[in-house]
Amino acid sequence: MSQHFDAIIIGTGQAGPSLAARFAAAGMAVAIIERDKFGGTCVNTGCTPTKTLVASAYAVHVARRGSEYGFVVDGDVRVDMKRAKARKDEVVGRSSRGVEEGLRGLKNCRVIQGHARLQSSRTVVVNDEILEADKIFINVGGRATIPAFPGIHEAPFFTNSSIMDVDFLPEHLVIIGGGYVGLEFAQMYRRFGSEVTIVEMGPRLIGREDEDVSQAVREILEAEGIQIRLNAKCISLARRDSRIAVGVKCDDPPPEVLASHVLLAVGRTPNTSDLGLNRPGVATDERGYIMVDDQLQTNVPGIWALGDCNGRGAFTHTAYNDFEIVADNLLNADHRRVSDRIETYALYIDPPLGRCGITDAEIRKSGRAALAAKYPMSRVSRAVEKGETQGFIKISVDAETKQILGAAILGTGGDEVVHVLLDVMYAKAPYTVVQRAMHIHPTVAEYLPTVLAKLEPFA
Ligand SMILES: Cc1cc2nc3c(=O)[nH]c(=O)nc-3n(C[C@H](O)[C@H](O)[C@H](O)COP(=O)(O)OP(=O)(O)OC[C@H]3O[C@@H](n4cnc5c(N)ncnc54)[C@H](O)[C@@H]3O)c2cc1C
Repeated sequence: MSQHFDAIIIGTGQAGPSLAARFAAAGMAVAIIERDKFGGTCVNTGCTPTKTLVASAYAVHVARRGSEYGFVVDGDVRVDMKRAKARKDEVVGRSSRGVEEGLRGLKNCRVIQGHARLQSSRTVVVNDEILEADKIFINVGGRATIPAFPGIHEAPFFTNSSIMDVDFLPEHLVIIGGGYVGLEFAQMYRRFGSEVTIVEMGPRLIGREDEDVSQAVREILEAEGIQIRLNAKCISLARRDSRIAVGVKCDDPPPEVLASHVLLAVGRTPNTSDLGLNRPGVATDERGYIMVDDQLQTNVPGIWALGDCNGRGAFTHTAYNDFEIVADNLLNADHRRVSDRIETYALYIDPPLGRCGITDAEIRKSGRAALAAKYPMSRVSRAVEKGETQGFIKISVDAETKQILGAAILGTGGDEVVHVLLDVMYAKAPYTVVQRAMHIHPTVAEYLPTVLAKLEPFA
């Protein structure tokens, strides 16, 4: 006997719970299944804990700069890792409990804990129980990629998940991977007091950003004493007494960095290999991401895939936007599409990088006529007043339509300010709307008109 539902949702990350709530409110019978912690990656091992720890690291950093701001700290400023972790656990716990309680409080929704597998295009097995539904929504997210580096099984390492249990200060943390996740942990642990080395295979950090952004981020991190090893083509791990030797070059004997601890941050792998996708024949790409159309349907009618597991985004806001697209299309007969959204994200080092739209490199590749302007944060009065003048604002616009093509705001408040431009991009309005708007003084956003006044033909 199987229990029948209108919808089965697998995973309680950033799309599943909201979808369950919308469906249940519409009177649909819903089952939602979670095998691990409620709230998924963002809540438990991603955005929430990292940004909470980044806040602790920022506070420590500012305290160390006390003399610049005119206050005195008697004695060393040292982090208490147990308390920093406890603060993080408290924020995460509250958030995860909120997701679970929200789901359990829903009328028409059954919450099941266990590992779900598809049995057919209409049935899911969990804890030996068979559930049946007209519609199945897969929101299984991803996990840290564990690459086949030589020695990977011989030496210990952390991932973004296991490092969440750390309540001590690593003496020398080597972070393999110079992407968004790696850089946030790098600055955080450096500010906590660890020696930190970033080992990156590519020729620069955050390689999908423009070179000037990569370079400025590198300078910010190096100024805080973070060591950066680029072009590390032959990464390997080996135990060396009580240390871990991280090989970085291919030469013999390999030049290496000696770590007390290692964090792997080299990308994500979708949680799709143990989901029974082959039973109904749900297609995945060569990396295991579930292939979906513009409205997030898989190749099997009645099965949708949302969030990180569909490879159409790797952020909480893209997963949440997936929920909105699916819910509006199914419940409101809307025609929302993934391709309507504009790329946007932030890198939460300090100062943060807020990004929207396309990069300079992409503009160049497209061959379109564009205008661009760049402005240093050192000339933004709010940044000067705060004593946080690193970074720059750069914006590019289409020379013909005058619409904003992209922006990078690396600087204090950059993660917030970028939304001024993003919303104008969604409105498909010309940049002159921002240029003529009166903004609040003193803010970073008040400089956007100033930057736009400096637009020149794209180099
Ligand atoms: C260190 C780090 C920091 C990050 N910071 C940010 C940030 O600042 N901003 C941002 O936008 N994004 C950030 N991200 C990315 C963000 O966390 C993810 O994009 C987001 O969590 C994706 O949500 P999701 O719903 O697709 O999947 P997830 O949140 O991963 O949720 C999937 C859920 O499905 C469950 N599951 C998997 N398989 C099964 C199964 N077979 N049966 C039952 N349950 C299953 C999992 O246990 C999990 O709970 C960060 C990621 C990391 C790793």
